[in-house]
Amino acid sequence: MQRRHFLYGAGAAVVALSGGAAADESLPSSARAPAQPISFAPPPPLVPIRARADRIVAINVCSRPFRAQGPRIEAERIGRKTVVHNYGHGGSGWSLSWGSAALAVRLAQVTRETRIAVIGCGAIGLTTALVAQRAGLHVRIYAKERPPETRSFNATGVWSPDSRICTVEHATPEFERRWEDMARLSFRTYQTLLGLADSPIEWRDGYMLSDTPFDQPAGHGDEREPPYPDLERRLLADIRGPMQALEPGQHPFQVPHARRYSQMIFNITAYARLLLDDFLRLGGEIETRAFESPRQFADLREKTLVNCTGYGARALLGDETIVPVRGQTARLIPQPQVNYGVLYRNHNLYVVPRRDGILVQAQADGDFGNADTTVDRAASEAAVARLAGLFATK
Ligand SMILES: Cc1cc2nc3c(=O)[nH]c(=O)nc-3n(C[C@H](O)[C@H](O)[C@H](O)COP(=O)(O)OP(=O)(O)OC[C@H]3O[C@@H](n4cnc5c(N)ncnc54)[C@H](O)[C@@H]3O)c2cc1C
Repeated sequence: MQRRHFLYGAGAAVVALSGGAAADESLPSSARAPAQPISFAPPPPLVPIRARADRIVAINVCSRPFRAQGPRIEAERIGRKTVVHNYGHGGSGWSLSWGSAALAVRLAQVTRETRIAVIGCGAIGLTTALVAQRAGLHVRIYAKERPPETRSFNATGVWSPDSRICTVEHATPEFERRWEDMARLSFRTYQTLLGLADSPIEWRDGYMLSDTPFDQPAGHGDEREPPYPDLERRLLADIRGPMQALEPGQHPFQVPHARRYSQMIFNITAYARLLLDDFLRLGGEIETRAFESPRQFADLREKTLVNCTGYGARALLGDETIVPVRGQTARLIPQPQVNYGVLYRNHNLYVVPRRDGILVQAQADGDFGNADTTVDRAASEAAVARLAGLFATK
């Protein structure tokens, strides 16, 4: 069980290293594995990240759609329509999308309709639409926004299948079985998307850095956050990448303790474009449309709909089980030679080497339950300054 997963505060990210794991995109899956002594030569010298505030090209804030009971994937009748819900994936939407889509499409197929509507064009809507097309259905997407305007577009972009996916009390054996099926199917699907032009999906090294030994306890998280189950460490141990201890001299960072992990990342710009292109190539259509109320579903020509409105479902359906969890990311000008990530524990610093920019995540106390999407530029600049400090010569 884990409580919270800040990268700062006294000893925070060590939760990932001392048993309790951090269910956040902030922590790579492999960060939860025990470190093995390094058994191969270190990689060639790393190209330093040019960490300067004047290289920030974008700062984005959006809300994770968290539900204590986990994503809502079920069918209901609304008027004369069958509506299959597929929303509320917390900090795991990209990671679980293919598996979640498979469950939702199975429910839609029960109606035997061959033309369905998908409402929403984020990570969940696009993958649901593609899974339905591959099952032989004709799909029209209706959405207020499409990439790059969707919230999904502003995610960190890492494999994080149990990040704020439910609370401990809701992690029943039935939930865990369903989650594991979704995660494994998604993981397998992602391995089929490696090696493509524009690298939508890649595996990268990352360096977990610390001022204090990794076996020292982690700091305290945000007390407002509920405890989350550590599903990935328990249920997906066989597909987590390795974590290796490094000696001083085996890495360039100005810290006494370092480990290296492997992590699957999503280059969201290229990946979202790939999903959209595939959907359109398979005959899909997209109509821009905003729904104020589910009563407006009656206007659609399709009789079976899949509702993939993410955080939007809170207002659309009045579903207050969806709790916003604020997240802010900044992107630095891309540096193609930088092929590694950084996680500096207890310093609120998490860096992902995406092709569309070096992504620097900054979290804050009070993100849980916070729907404010105002950019806090100072927080991102401070994170970039901390990153610069890791490369400074002493
Ligand atoms: C900062 C941050 C970092 C994250 N990092 C990761 C990560 O690294 N890995 C990971 O797996 N997950 C991550 N997540 C979580 C992930 O981004 C979400 O779980 C995911 O984006 C949810 O996708 P979605 O398609 O349900 O929602 P959205 O992307 O919000 O899409 C909803 C769609 O529905 C449409 N819509 C909504 N309401 C209406 C309406 N009333 N009428 C018409 N259309 C409507 C929208 O226009 C949009 O097209 C992160 C989230 C945040 C905030």
